[in-house]
Amino acid sequence: MTEERFVEHARDGDIHILRIGNPPVNTLRTGVREGLHKGIQAALKEGARAIVLIGDGRMFSAGAEMTEFGKPRQPPSLPEVFDEIEYCKVPVVAAIHGSALGGGLELALACHARVALTSAQLGLPEVKRGFVPGAGGTQRLPRLIGGEAALKIIVTGEPVSAAEALKLGFLDAIVDDPLEASAVAWARQHAGDSFTLARKREDKIHGADLAAFDAAAAALVKRARGQESPKGCVTAVRAALTHPFDEGLNIEREQFQRLVAGEQSIALRHIFFGEREAQRVLDLPADTKPTTVNNAVVIGGGTMGGGIAMNFANNYIPVTIVETSQEALAKGLERCEANWQRSIKSGRMSQAEYDKRRSFLKGSTSLDVVKEADLVIEAVFENMEVKKEIFAKLDKLARPGVVLASNTSTLSIDEIASATSRPELVVGMHFFSPANVMRLLENVRGAKTNYAAIATATDVGKRIGKLPVLVGNCDGFVGNRMTGKRTPQVEKLLLEGCLPQDIDRVMEAYGMAMGPLATGDLAGLDIGAAVRKARGTVAPMADAIVARGRFGQKTSKGWYMYDEKRTRQPDPEVEAIILEVAEKMQVRRRKIDDQEILERMLLPMVNEGARILEEGVAARAIDIDVIFCNGFGWPAWRGGPMFWADRMGLKAVRDRLAHYAEATKDPNLKPAALIEQLAADGGSFAHPAKRAA
Ligand code: NAD
Repeated sequence: MTEERFVEHARDGDIHILRIGNPPVNTLRTGVREGLHKGIQAALKEGARAIVLIGDGRMFSAGAEMTEFGKPRQPPSLPEVFDEIEYCKVPVVAAIHGSALGGGLELALACHARVALTSAQLGLPEVKRGFVPGAGGTQRLPRLIGGEAALKIIVTGEPVSAAEALKLGFLDAIVDDPLEASAVAWARQHAGDSFTLARKREDKIHGADLAAFDAAAAALVKRARGQESPKGCVTAVRAALTHPFDEGLNIEREQFQRLVAGEQSIALRHIFFGEREAQRVLDLPADTKPTTVNNAVVIGGGTMGGGIAMNFANNYIPVTIVETSQEALAKGLERCEANWQRSIKSGRMSQAEYDKRRSFLKGSTSLDVVKEADLVIEAVFENMEVKKEIFAKLDKLARPGVVLASNTSTLSIDEIASATSRPELVVGMHFFSPANVMRLLENVRGAKTNYAAIATATDVGKRIGKLPVLVGNCDGFVGNRMTGKRTPQVEKLLLEGCLPQDIDRVMEAYGMAMGPLATGDLAGLDIGAAVRKARGTVAPMADAIVARGRFGQKTSKGWYMYDEKRTRQPDPEVEAIILEVAEKMQVRRRKIDDQEILERMLLPMVNEGARILEEGVAARAIDIDVIFCNGFGWPAWRGGPMFWADRMGLKAVRDRLAHYAEATKDPNLKPAALIEQLAADGGSFAHPAKRAA
């Protein structure tokens, strides 16, 4: 392939334009870098007075081409291209629309000046992929806006708006659409100006207050818990304040190379690419047409219904909540309003934005509004009879072809669908709490669900900012089904020698937002007890805790005790209960090491994940990892449960499972057939090896 295909060279009089064209997001692959190099050379030869760099299509550039990582690098490298820009005799102006991210922003920072449309977003998200900006971003940005401001952008990885970039000082002007004409005019007007390159600027970093910088850095790193890349970012940005430019670049390079080869970055990239992959429904015929939802109805305005409705209003799609009484409706709407008000208070949302979003949310106590709906999502009590009654009514009211979705977390979509005359249009849309915040959406395919319904649930899920992953209909779907398999081992560990804080400590050290016992306290232990009662199962430890009226945070006592600030503390009474139960069951307690705790928490989930793959409930292992990293507090830098198992090696996974199945007499831990097969074939969940013929 020739470089001309990636960078187009145009001329507007003596202003030359280099258009990067590497769809869809203009990553800076080898051909683009070559094209920029040749373009600059040609422009200079032809006597250009200034050069405008612009992106074709959706954006300026999303950055380096990550699929080239780990492969032999083809010249010119990004730093070589940047050198060429910086030593260019005429000014090079970056013209930014859409996004300038990572290497894309670094390219812009190496230019003499930057102009952007007001809708542009600028950021350095490398930290989220487990590494640091590796082409000078950590050295140039502090020189333009100061150490602390740069640190915040680089450590959080969050993009800023053009207005913010202008205010901070790394954008020179906001210009009008059409961008190219504006940028050419700006370049022509300023072609004779003298520009100070970012690398030559000292004013913002000279005499920087290192103590203040370190304090800001400590606060930012603390939020990242066990993740390494934020620390690498701090090291690199700090070097900008303490070292000359070229030495700073070397320090940045060291951090980049160390981190990009590390386990965390491999995991984060696995999830990053996986999130795109998991949203693709493999068997969906290309000509399937989703319904465009311009009017949604949510039945039930409780904890979930309110949050679900907010997602639509947040994305300017009209939505109506239906409740059983004026009182319940008012309560539901107020909860949404209070949520938005919190965003206003914290400065994340303006009053005008609130007014706009609020105008898209309506309420009703009559199901008749369903007649006008393009999509109905039910979120009433978790009770099959109630749901079936509602679906029968919805079926009569909704127009033909309208998809009817349920947010149930445990009930069968097929049985719910059986109450309608349109089971092919019934689908699960399983949101996670808080539904206005959590990104994961498990869309559940019933036995009769058709492609149009699946496409509609997927499409609308994306439009309301969720990450839709299609799963099959089974008890607990993917996430809750796998987590549920961990619970018997929690019981056994408590019986054999652990205390709640031992298990939570190990899981939190692994990176989970909250350990399983603390999570139980937050959700309410009475809920699990009610489920056990309904299913006729027992859990001696949990039952003993609940029997003492310890329902979790709501009673200030559960697996822990809680103060007024809801800070948890180990409770001697819990230890006494645990010892008492163990004695009654004649179990001799022993010291259990952290590795065993970790394996006994993760392996049952992996084993169930394998069964889920065997059954086709999830299409790919990556779907499961994406589900856990987006809905279950699994740290993305660990890559999810199936990734964890793959890194451990499936032979070891099989052996450890077989060991624990025997040692704990838990038949659930008998290695799943898929694990046996992959272990025998030398395959992994991500790359199942072909069976030898
Ligand atoms: P909730 O009790 O907070 O809300 C249910 C609401 O439905 C109530 O406000 C009730 O007045 C209303 N309602 C009941 N019957 C109705 C009817 N016939 N018409 C209109 N409204 C009616 O419950 P929730 O926690 O929001 O759960 C709702 C659904 O979401 C359940 O199926 C649950 O399993 C599922 N879910 C819950 C969570 C969670 O964490 N709470 C997570 C995922 C899914």
